[in-house]
Amino acid sequence: MKFDSVIMGGGLAGLVAGISLQQAGKSTAIVSMGQNSLHFFSGSFESMTEPPQRVADLFKDAGIGLHYRQGVRLMPLGTFRESAMSLEDIELFPSEKFARRVLIVNFQGYHDFFSSFLAEGLEKKGMRCRIRLINIPDIDPTHQGPGEMRSVQIARTMDRIWEKVVQEIRLLLKDEDAVILPQVFGLQDISVPGRIRQALPAKVVFVGTMPPSVPGVRTQMLLKKRYQLLGGTYLMGDEAIKAHVHEGVVHSVVTRNLDSHYLEASNFILATGGLFSKGLVSNPFQLYEPVFGLDVEFAEDRNTWYNPAFKEDQPYMGYGVKADDTLHAIIDGKPLENLYAIGSILGATHPELGSGAGLAINSALVAVDQILSEK
Ligand SMILES: Cc1cc2nc3c(=O)[nH]c(=O)nc-3n(C[C@H](O)[C@H](O)[C@H](O)COP(=O)(O)OP(=O)(O)OC[C@H]3O[C@@H](n4cnc5c(N)ncnc54)[C@H](O)[C@@H]3O)c2cc1C
Repeated sequence: MKFDSVIMGGGLAGLVAGISLQQAGKSTAIVSMGQNSLHFFSGSFESMTEPPQRVADLFKDAGIGLHYRQGVRLMPLGTFRESAMSLEDIELFPSEKFARRVLIVNFQGYHDFFSSFLAEGLEKKGMRCRIRLINIPDIDPTHQGPGEMRSVQIARTMDRIWEKVVQEIRLLLKDEDAVILPQVFGLQDISVPGRIRQALPAKVVFVGTMPPSVPGVRTQMLLKKRYQLLGGTYLMGDEAIKAHVHEGVVHSVVTRNLDSHYLEASNFILATGGLFSKGLVSNPFQLYEPVFGLDVEFAEDRNTWYNPAFKEDQPYMGYGVKADDTLHAIIDGKPLENLYAIGSILGATHPELGSGAGLAINSALVAVDQILSEK
């Protein structure tokens, strides 16, 4: 099978690259093994402030609403984090004390939302909190089975019955000026969080739950749908296992499912993620990149990979494959002519491109611009 570009990895970086190349009239395929970091996404894009117009347009065309104001976001355990570019349903506040009195609402049988931690965190900031559980029979675990009480399963029901939830909250509200709800709305119908906000007489704040992240899964679904609508070939559940490289040029990629039908292309993009997604793999002696055997930047002494203060930034998170300024991946000290490394597989090797989701988007665009500028 022959394409203009083959992208390995269908997370944020791979999808942004795929959509941009399809929009530019290129034929592409994305090979994507499994879950990606978007399934754990908070909804705020690290190191992105106001994005360039092309990024804003890319998300808008995929049906993903964004806002860009600076502010702080309430985290699942009641702490706050500074954020900027975020999904539309993520509330950002100018300061941590965003209300006087807060009603925290959870659903009976749902254990992946931490009401008490939230209340403790908010009370420290001078907000008075009440926690209430409401019983929504449609998501009752005795009907669904406890294994079904995960954010995404609940969200499928909530998009249909959100008006019932609003009615229950109206009965509970006293003098609170804010209501906190688990982020289990708007999986399939992106208008639901906005409608809940309009229907309640208090500020409504949706707060993250245990994974999977509903806004993250929705973002992944919408980007993938957009990519496919533009004609991209998404090879779901397949894995790039090795490549044919000759004299610094990649000719084809072998995947687990396609067996002897190699994926051939003029350009290849490696967006297989970091250690978390198996784009990088570790053993007791080294960190390596499993598809091409690219050069990887990491500390020789394994004891220095971790900081025992586990809440601090961990050195291993900065390790990544080596790539030149235009993100051509490097093997044995030399850049490959037509292989680009993008997203979290780069670790912190290119700090000028940001970190987290910002790195995924910025590096994807650098690779796309390079590919489009080539004859
Ligand atoms: C748990 C977690 C939460 C995060 N939350 C945030 C956040 O809230 N905000 C933020 O800005 N950043 C966050 N990040 C940082 C995150 O790395 C980026 O946001 C970004 O989503 C990374 O995208 P990516 O496409 O580079 O990699 P990934 O999202 O990791 O995607 C890589 C994909 O490649 C696939 N893959 C791997 N090997 C192969 C192979 N050989 N063949 C085919 N496919 C393969 C994987 O299965 C995966 O689907 C988080 C990271 C983690 C790990």
